[in-house]
Amino acid sequence: MKIGIPRALLYYYYYPLWREFFTQLGLEVVLSPTTNKGILDAGIKNTLSEVCLPVKVFYGHVSALADKVDYLFVPRINRVEPKAYICPKFMGLPDMLKARLQQMPPFIDTAVDAGMDGNPVQCWVDCFQEVGSKFTHNHQLVNSSIAAAFRTQQEFQRRLTGGMLIPDALENDCVPEVAATSQQNYTLRIGLLGHPYNLYDAYISMNLIHKLQSMGSFVVTPESLSVDEIEDEARKLPKRLFWTLGKRMIGSALNFYASKELDGLIYLTSFGCGPESLVEELVARWAKQQGNLPYLMITIDEHTGEAGMVTRLEAFTEMIKRRQKHENHLSSHGEPLHSG
Ligand code: SF4
Repeated sequence: MKIGIPRALLYYYYYPLWREFFTQLGLEVVLSPTTNKGILDAGIKNTLSEVCLPVKVFYGHVSALADKVDYLFVPRINRVEPKAYICPKFMGLPDMLKARLQQMPPFIDTAVDAGMDGNPVQCWVDCFQEVGSKFTHNHQLVNSSIAAAFRTQQEFQRRLTGGMLIPDALENDCVPEVAATSQQNYTLRIGLLGHPYNLYDAYISMNLIHKLQSMGSFVVTPESLSVDEIEDEARKLPKRLFWTLGKRMIGSALNFYASKELDGLIYLTSFGCGPESLVEELVARWAKQQGNLPYLMITIDEHTGEAGMVTRLEAFTEMIKRRQKHENHLSSHGEPLHSG
């Protein structure tokens, strides 16, 4: 039995968990290729134009797996933590796919729902129990597969909070030094906000992380923060945010501001994202209030050109360097900074 996992959306959060579970269960996991023009075009062709870019990309990845697998794993993800919803697009994803794509292998679309009082682990345990029972009556095998899956996911999380970027942390044989090496020789520390399925999809983001690194930046992403660090900051909001992914962005932004360790902040958003239209505005306002942290927002869609992106990144990093030079000059002459 082959089970297909689209290399898009929450793959970037949960792939180690999913892969290990299905592998331990005895299934062969087939991952769609990295995003390319063909995948994006297939996604655009099969979705409505107003759908956000990451969902279009997801459609393309599902299409790429259609004739290669016996099942497709597309869980219906409602809540992965109590009292907060993940984006509505994730809830309706299996229905949207079934409505638009023909001749697909059966979807494994079991619901993942932490409910109002559940916990982030139990919702996946419940999902896997249900999925496992479709393939085997051996409860012991299902339980041991779930336990192995959580161990693998914990190791993945440990690598991320240890400073690795997702592509490095996903490599089986990767050791912490690999990520550290790719981030050496930098002159700026840039915070990079955005959903992992935008940031780490090299085709969609036009290799944004690599571009920043080659311009001499050390890139810090929300994945380097623990859940508690993000929650502590998000709790400072006057009103509780009930969108998990939006809360993650805001909590990370506040943590980045508070750390005062960054030279600039970039927020990569995708056109058509409902939650981000609110979150991005809040982050931009805080950046303005902080006053001293250069901030750049980049919105991408399927028509975004690479040359424009490079120009904006070069201008942004150059502006920060000049500003730092100017401030160093002022402080070496005993003059107050930001004197206008
Ligand atoms: S959070 Fe935004 S970008 Fe992500 S799936 Fe939802 S609408 Fe699309």
